[in-house]
Amino acid sequence: MKSSFEIRKTFLDYFKSKDHVIVESSPVIPADDPSLLFTNAGMNQFKKCLTGEEKRSYSRVADTQKCLRVSGKHNDFEDVGYDGSHHTFFEMLGNWSFGDYYKKEAIIFAWELLTKIYSIPKKDLYVTVHITDDEAEELWKSNTDIDPSHISRFDKENFWEMADTGPCGPCSEIHIDRGPSFCNGYNHKCSVNVSGCNRFIELWNLVFIQYNRNEKGELEQLKFKSVDTGMGLERLVAVLNSAPSNYDTDLFLPIIEKIEKDTNMNRKDDPVAFQVIADHIRALAVAIADGGVPSNEGRGYVLRKILRRAVRFLRKLGFKKPYLFSLVEPVCSIYDNIFPEIRKNFDRIVYILKQEEERFLETLETGLELIKNETCRIKSSGLNRLSGDIIFKLHDTYGFPVDITKEICREENLVADIEGFEKRMEEQRLRGKKSWKKESSVPVDLIEKLMLQPTIFTGYEKVSDESFVKAIIAKKNDEWIVKDDAKEDDEIFIITEKTPFYAESGGQVGDTGIIESDSVKIEVYDTQKSGGIFMHLCKIIKGNIKINDRIFLSIDVERRDSIRKNHTATHLLQSALRNVLGKHVSQAGSFVNDEYLRFDFTHPKALLNNEIEEVERMVNIYIQKAKEVKTEILPLEEAKKRQALAFFGEKYGEKVRIVSIDEISSEFCGGTHIDNTGKIGTFIIISEESVASGIRRIEAKTGLNALLLLQQQRKTLNDISEILKTKTDLVLRLQTLMDKSKKFEKEKNKVQKQFPVSEKIVEVKDFKIILVGSEQNPDIKNSADLAKKKIKSGVVFCTSVENDICKIVVSVTDDLVDKISAENIVKKICELWNGKGGGKPSFAQGATKKPQGDLIFEMETIIKKIL
Ligand SMILES: [Zn+2]
Ligand SMILES: [Zn+2]
Repeated sequence: MKSSFEIRKTFLDYFKSKDHVIVESSPVIPADDPSLLFTNAGMNQFKKCLTGEEKRSYSRVADTQKCLRVSGKHNDFEDVGYDGSHHTFFEMLGNWSFGDYYKKEAIIFAWELLTKIYSIPKKDLYVTVHITDDEAEELWKSNTDIDPSHISRFDKENFWEMADTGPCGPCSEIHIDRGPSFCNGYNHKCSVNVSGCNRFIELWNLVFIQYNRNEKGELEQLKFKSVDTGMGLERLVAVLNSAPSNYDTDLFLPIIEKIEKDTNMNRKDDPVAFQVIADHIRALAVAIADGGVPSNEGRGYVLRKILRRAVRFLRKLGFKKPYLFSLVEPVCSIYDNIFPEIRKNFDRIVYILKQEEERFLETLETGLELIKNETCRIKSSGLNRLSGDIIFKLHDTYGFPVDITKEICREENLVADIEGFEKRMEEQRLRGKKSWKKESSVPVDLIEKLMLQPTIFTGYEKVSDESFVKAIIAKKNDEWIVKDDAKEDDEIFIITEKTPFYAESGGQVGDTGIIESDSVKIEVYDTQKSGGIFMHLCKIIKGNIKINDRIFLSIDVERRDSIRKNHTATHLLQSALRNVLGKHVSQAGSFVNDEYLRFDFTHPKALLNNEIEEVERMVNIYIQKAKEVKTEILPLEEAKKRQALAFFGEKYGEKVRIVSIDEISSEFCGGTHIDNTGKIGTFIIISEESVASGIRRIEAKTGLNALLLLQQQRKTLNDISEILKTKTDLVLRLQTLMDKSKKFEKEKNKVQKQFPVSEKIVEVKDFKIILVGSEQNPDIKNSADLAKKKIKSGVVFCTSVENDICKIVVSVTDDLVDKISAENIVKKICELWNGKGGGKPSFAQGATKKPQGDLIFEMETIIKKIL
């Protein structure tokens, strides 16, 4: 078998020999592109090189790109596993020219590599070109020895676009005829682009980029022409090995063999289950290694969906306990020589998978049961439709991604009422929206259209700088527009040629400050960036400004200093965490402003108090060592050799900035830092908590902010001392007080439980009557005395019921003894309630049958009747 390693290497070596720079794959979690859920094509990381917005030192490049396709026209997630050639995760081999070579060389390279180097028989290869592309067809005929009858033309199939907008152009695809045995369709003549025919498959797509599709959907001619190609590695490896499917290659077999061994089953027993699991674990391991975490929204939700689908199929193979994590090892073994980041994150991947799987397995059983019952019910009533309500319930209550439900329906020959489900989802979304409003404040689209040169950032060295205004953007009727000038009180975005203002990125907030000239004074209250363009969000305090004005920019230095301290402290914190907790700690996000810092990292459980103290102590020791903070710009390769900690969320050009502090820390970082750790002063952790499964969050303060916090805490302590009237043994005193209060509370509850008492005061014929009803009251006379004191003048009517007996006490205050007799009242009650009693006019008692119904209500009724 030809190994995937050799095949990949051959591709990269070939293009290296053709003067291409070989770069690394970018992460599958794209850092700077919110329009993109996951990296889904080789060209994602070169998008700006193709449009000319970004210049790199090379114009020819090749790589193998990690791609994740979970939806969209190229791939339907639920179909993965059912055939041998579609995957959620795959590698895309590609070569690019940015304004360098064009159609001719692209065609010659592809043909030479496939036929001469990989030795694919020429008779098996077919190519397609766009219906309008005479040039490409001519080039194929004149520069290669392809059989001219193997060239055909298509329209849509031969126009490539990555998304609704962006660089695009006509393409030329190379297909391979794998032989009649591969055809899985019927009633057709096998040929290129016949749907349902697996005999002819696309191998390589050569895209000739010459347009940019703009927001309006129009094609704009780009300034220069480029080449963007893509060839799926999994497919190529299968073809070169004459393997029946991609799963029969060394990119999947180690996983499948492991499952076979652990289940004592054969892949043939349930090919779909084996293939789904083998596919999904690769996607999960790669995505988590690149920083993905399963969650309830966005990218995280997609990962959760993939994971749950895999777990469902594992359940079909009989696994009732977490198992997915044991497949991380075979995935690592497949990629050790090309994507070492997977092995590096081994512990983290295993931990996250295990936790997620455990959680889902709990509800999976219940959910499957519900589906089973529902399926039986539907089928026995002669129907075949699973209602939207049930699908929603499975989704909402049991966390079944709708794809799983659809899949089960498919297996059970049921129709899933997806429309009904969507309706329920929409209702829920609307409910959610009311409490959640977010507004994008940056006019990204508009800025892209301006095609400005990237802003020169001078803020690493300077806190103020001189420049001129390149663009003014203002809001008019809720829409962003480009303006030539602005006046007092206007709120605008200003874009300048240079700026010392740091724009929010890498978790660090944007700078604030002042922009001014002789004729204007502007307050900058935030700085953002889009691509390489920095935008100052401002309000004009006085004067006017217009395009090309020379201006002076100065940042709020005090605020920036606080930010610097917090940012450098974040690096020290990461190092301390790795020393105290272990090397599995890696950054999962951070936020730094002038008040505090927040650092998210991977760690399976809550930190112990002594761990928190140790981390805090260590960071303060680093601070007191007063080490120099160095920044260097290095080529990526060299930086990696130094083992700088790369954070997956950041996107690197070919040169990277490294911030290092002695032997303590070395990180890829674009943020602003102080030049010496001593300037941080103090570092105090204010909280430690969980943010997601396997992710912890620490918040901390530095410098004067830390001091301020300590002073506030001291004040609180002083206040407590005042109240307790002691400065020593505060804890002991408080504990004693708390104990006492607890004891008191307990006794109170005990007393109340013994004989719950209810009370009501009513007035009947000008007499005030207090009704006291209780259960199992041991001393009803005492209760009557208490009530008498309370009422001062009136009649007391007390009862206590126990089993079927109702004890009665009636007493009359001295001032009323002449007018009303307790004895008479008791006698009349005994008559009505069936009992016996007697006494004096001021006090009488008796016992009757327990009245039915609410005691107080019955007492009130009877007393009104008697008086
Ligand atoms: Zn066919
Ligand atoms: Zn940093």
